Amino acid sequence: MPANILLVEDEPAIQELIAFNLSQAGHHVMRADSVENAQQIVRNALPDLILLDWMLPGMSGIDFARKLRADERTKTIPLIMLTARSDEHDKIVGLETGADDYITKPFSPRELQARIKAVLRRRAPQATDDPVEIKGLRLDPVTHRVTGNGNPIDLGPTEFRLLHFFMTHAERVHSRAHLLDQVWGDHVFVEERTVDVHIRRLRSSLEGSGHDSLIQTVRGSGYRLSAN
Ligand code: CA
Repeated sequence: MPANILLVEDEPAIQELIAFNLSQAGHHVMRADSVENAQQIVRNALPDLILLDWMLPGMSGIDFARKLRADERTKTIPLIMLTARSDEHDKIVGLETGADDYITKPFSPRELQARIKAVLRRRAPQATDDPVEIKGLRLDPVTHRVTGNGNPIDLGPTEFRLLHFFMTHAERVHSRAHLLDQVWGDHVFVEERTVDVHIRRLRSSLEGSGHDSLIQTVRGSGYRLSAN
């Protein structure tokens, strides 16, 4: 499944090269050449992953990484630091800021792909192709098929994404604002009650196999998928 990747890199040639390689691999790439531009993009919609250059004009990549990790809304975004330095000390500093991985320039497109895949699998399973199954409810991101105890379930595109997110983040409570961020992407023009509408549709589609009870309302907080 293609991921939305925010690339923060100030050197035009490197930015171009990485963006080209990621697009070739099927990802959607948003580019920023400074932390300021990157912040604007993140304010609009959360990317699935950020590739962040260490040395940037203005605020450094390291300081931006710290900021992202300190903010409730952005603290779980998968983050890979890019750097020209291969110093072991720098690597430790990079990982201490909360980066998930660290890659030293120059790197091959294949290495970058492999790192991205590994980090997404670990940190953002909804952005990978792995099928998920909970209590007889199965969702396959590749074929876009959902089954309940082996019987096909028809879902609209939003309900499908919503269910995929819930199944890959089970047992945790998600606020409406968080769901808008994660499932709709651009939350600016969507009202929070839209979430309730799609939750209702999702539950009614899951009724046939009895899986509607997995989607629980947590009063005053939001929703959660729970197998308990
Ligand atoms: Ca740079």
